[in-house]
Amino acid sequence: MPEPARSRRCLSRIGTCGVLLAGLWLAGGAPLPAAPPQSSPFDAGRAWAHLEEIVGFGPRPAGSLALRQTRAYLTRQLARAGLTVQEQPFTAVTPIGRVEMVNLAVRLPGRRQERILFAGHYDTKLMRDAPFVGANDGGSSAAFLIELARVLAARDREFTWEIVFFDGEEAFCAGWSDCGRPGAPDNTYGSRHYVAEARRAGALPLLRALVLVDMIADRQLQFRRDTNSTPWLVDLVWDTARRLGYGDVFVDDVLPVEDDHVPFLEAGVPAVDIIDLDYAPWHTPGDTLDRVDRRGLQITGDVLLAMLPALEARLMTDAPSR
Ligand SMILES: [Zn+2]
Repeated sequence: MPEPARSRRCLSRIGTCGVLLAGLWLAGGAPLPAAPPQSSPFDAGRAWAHLEEIVGFGPRPAGSLALRQTRAYLTRQLARAGLTVQEQPFTAVTPIGRVEMVNLAVRLPGRRQERILFAGHYDTKLMRDAPFVGANDGGSSAAFLIELARVLAARDREFTWEIVFFDGEEAFCAGWSDCGRPGAPDNTYGSRHYVAEARRAGALPLLRALVLVDMIADRQLQFRRDTNSTPWLVDLVWDTARRLGYGDVFVDDVLPVEDDHVPFLEAGVPAVDIIDLDYAPWHTPGDTLDRVDRRGLQITGDVLLAMLPALEARLMTDAPSR
C-alpha cells in the first residue's frame, strides 16, 4: 500500500526532529505544537517484535491452540519484565458451542486500590475459509500492551494500574449481532465476563477508568472520536495527542463504536476506545504484517503515557460515580 498523502510526523526518539523543530522556532516561524517526547520510554521496536511473534502463531480465534500458544508467549514476555500474569478462565456459550476462554491481567499496585485499566483483545476473528492472522485486529493491541506493561511497571503510581488482555472479543458469526439468539450477544465475551466478575466480587467501584486500544497500527492511522466513550476521557486523550503534535492522527470526526469498552460503560465505568476502524483489510485475510506499521504503536504509547498524570489527577479530585 502506498504511503498516505498526509504529512509524516516526527517520530524520531532522538535528535533529528527536535533539532528541526527548534530551528523553525528560532527562525521565527509560526508557533509549533509541543514536540513528541524525544526520549519516549515506550519502545515501538520491542512492541513490533512482539507483534511479529504473535502473528507467527497464525490464526488465533478463541479456544484455539494458537491462542493458547499466544497466551504462553504473553505470559513469558511479561515475566521477563518481572510481571506476574493472573489468568481469568471461563467458559463462554457461543453460537458454535461452549468455548474455553481466558482473560489475562497484570496488576501494578499503587498507593490506592482503585484501578485504572489499560486493555485490548488478543483473539482474532474465526474465519474457516481463509487464514486470518489479524496483524492489526487482535495483534496490535496485544503486542502494544506487553510493551506498555513493561514501561508502566517502572513508574510511580497513585492508582493501581491493570493491563488486561481480553479473550473472545470477536463474534463467531459473520457479523457482530446476536446471531439469531436474542439477548445473547455474540461478541466481547472476555470484557463482559471481566465486568460480571468485578460486579460479583463487589469490586466495580474500584474500577475508575478504562483505556481500550484496538487496531492501532494501520499504516494510514487515524483515530476518530468514539461517541459511545466517556466524553471527558475522550477529550483528555485527544487534547494530549494534539499537545504532542498528533492532531492529524487523533482527528475530530466522530463515529459510534461497539467494542470491549461497552460492558464497562454499561456498568458506569468511564471508558475510552482508541480504535482506527478505517482499515481496508479489516476482517479480511489481508490483515497482515505488511499492512501495519510500528509508528501507530509509538504514537499510541506516547499519548497514553503523557495522558496518564492528568488522568490520575482528575480521578483524585472526582469521587467515583457509583
Ligand atoms: Zn475484529
